[in-house]
Amino acid sequence: MAERVIALAGNPNVGKSTVFNSLTGMRRHTGNWSGKTVDTAAGRFRRGENEYILVDLPGTYSLLTHSAEEEVARDFLGGDDPDGVVIVCDAACLGRNLNLALQVLEMAPHRPTVLCVNLMDEAETKGIKLDLDALSSALGVTVVGMSARRRGEAARLGAALDRAFAAPTDFPVPLCYAPEIESAIAARGGERWRALQHLSEDPAMVDGIVSTLHARACEIASAAVSAEGGTACGYTAADARRDRILTGRRTAYPIMLVLLFFILWLTVEGANYPSAWLGALFGRIESGLLGLMEAWGAPAWLTGVLVEGVWRTLGRVVSVMLPPMLIFFPLFTLMEDAGYLPRIAYNLDRPFRACRACGKQALCMCMGFGCNAVGVVGCRIIDSRRERLLAVLTNSFVPCNGRFPTLIALIVIFFAGNGGGAVSALLLLGLILVAVAVSFGVTWLLSHTLFRGMPSAFTLEMPPFRRPRVGRVLVSAVVDRTLFVLGRAAAVAAPAGLVIWGMANVTVGEMSLLGWGAAALEPLGRLMGMDGAILLAFILGLPANEIVLPIVLMIYTAGGSLGEVGSSAALGEILVANGWDGGRAACVLIFTLFHWPCSTTLLTVKRETGSAAMAAMAALLPTVVGVLLCIVVNVIRGSLL
Ligand code: GDP
Repeated sequence: MAERVIALAGNPNVGKSTVFNSLTGMRRHTGNWSGKTVDTAAGRFRRGENEYILVDLPGTYSLLTHSAEEEVARDFLGGDDPDGVVIVCDAACLGRNLNLALQVLEMAPHRPTVLCVNLMDEAETKGIKLDLDALSSALGVTVVGMSARRRGEAARLGAALDRAFAAPTDFPVPLCYAPEIESAIAARGGERWRALQHLSEDPAMVDGIVSTLHARACEIASAAVSAEGGTACGYTAADARRDRILTGRRTAYPIMLVLLFFILWLTVEGANYPSAWLGALFGRIESGLLGLMEAWGAPAWLTGVLVEGVWRTLGRVVSVMLPPMLIFFPLFTLMEDAGYLPRIAYNLDRPFRACRACGKQALCMCMGFGCNAVGVVGCRIIDSRRERLLAVLTNSFVPCNGRFPTLIALIVIFFAGNGGGAVSALLLLGLILVAVAVSFGVTWLLSHTLFRGMPSAFTLEMPPFRRPRVGRVLVSAVVDRTLFVLGRAAAVAAPAGLVIWGMANVTVGEMSLLGWGAAALEPLGRLMGMDGAILLAFILGLPANEIVLPIVLMIYTAGGSLGEVGSSAALGEILVANGWDGGRAACVLIFTLFHWPCSTTLLTVKRETGSAAMAAMAALLPTVVGVLLCIVVNVIRGSLL
């Protein structure tokens, strides 16, 4: 049986991940905006005697420039690994897409190659007709038209691959560049594409190379395409109308705010009930477990460790986190799939530029709302190292999903009064705006001190709006994001519950270890308008933010029984009994927004920047801001009382 390694290349947002998924049956993240795939993934599929290993490369427009994604794609395509290539194109903007196709073919003119013209359904609704045979003979490769979202299309691409290996590619003639470029290629010798690559670093040459590529791509495309509507690159007049509203001077910000409010409101309002049910469910199972342990005659410490330590912490984390995530992630993914995220980046480009940062930082910030570690990885879409560092270091200034439940619970208990979900959502919106404002402020400060420099120019692709596939979005949001985040939280919460239960029950002198820790932190906690227990909980919550509030409760109740964990009234009673009031809750809210990110995020920062110092800085920055803000609020509050 032959094993064939196939590189999957294409411009961003042409449906590459969708093609990858349909061929391999995997679930790689898809979303309607450029640059979301910043790493490679591999999957296998089989056809008859042949086993194909498909390697999904990051989306790129060209192989001649030098962004991180382009280098990954170029190194792989230029190396010895791929036995064949699938180039995915957008049928609605073939001209631009062929640019990359030509470069890939120049690299290896005889390597089995399939040109997969995807999004045929979109092209059709836009009145674009394609002559795939003409395309095939112009390029000398196997061409297959498909709509990757539809079921059953993958088999045709698989068959095209088989054909490509049976009758290898014959890319007709190498492109003919201007005479001075051709003679420079000849003078350098070696492989033609490597010479081109080298020449493209010369500013005097690169324009000539690019324009030849571009001209040939347009020539081939116009011979193969007949468009009724005369659309440019998939972006229609209707898209332009929508963009005038979504990115308009007067309308952009109000729409973003309303959308954000709406999402928060649905999350807060909708999460209430299932949280309470889940809390009750976990409580009931807990009583059952206690009964079982008793019937087995298990020793008290074992019951304590397993039921009160591990199970209870797990229960709190799941019942508090799961419902908001189940609402937030799908809504967010719907927006992403429809193509709204790049519009947010466009709208926020001006303020980010004013902070001398990159507008794409807005995309990383949006991802940060889901999970800061994901946001930090997402910063790879920013090309300039200086701007990428700014985005990485400020990512955890926006609250991630692990912190939302704490924010929501405290708002509901201490600030929303009887106002219900809408008031809570409004307050939460206010907090998020504060977080975003601080994030801008810190970005500004950093880019005027440690990371001085001017913002680089970048082009942000406005993808055509696409109707999101609700079913798929639900599946991917629930399975890929929610369960992933929850799994991670649970994996951390269970052992953390164990450790904390131990700390609550191992006594030194009169006090438990937790008690000692809290007492030691009391002075600083007081200064910040909180108490030692809360500060200790933040420290012990380093593995995952979602366990901070459960730890606070555990310290207050020190192993005692708690009743239903999901009900905010019960939670409120415990907090108030331990000296909480609005002022303290405000300080905890502030510190929840601004303190060190979780350990996963810190490790991710270290990995992405290759520097432990940067990870330390990512922890220090928000902590300094949080501590200072808390002290200021506490002092002001003290002077008012
Ligand atoms: P990538 O950036 O190239 O990996 O593109 P994705 O696979 O993430 O797809 C980008 C968007 O196009 C997503 O919203 C997909 O659902 C959508 N998409 C992909 N293939 C098709 C297709 O054949 N038809 C239509 N209408 N949409 C598609």
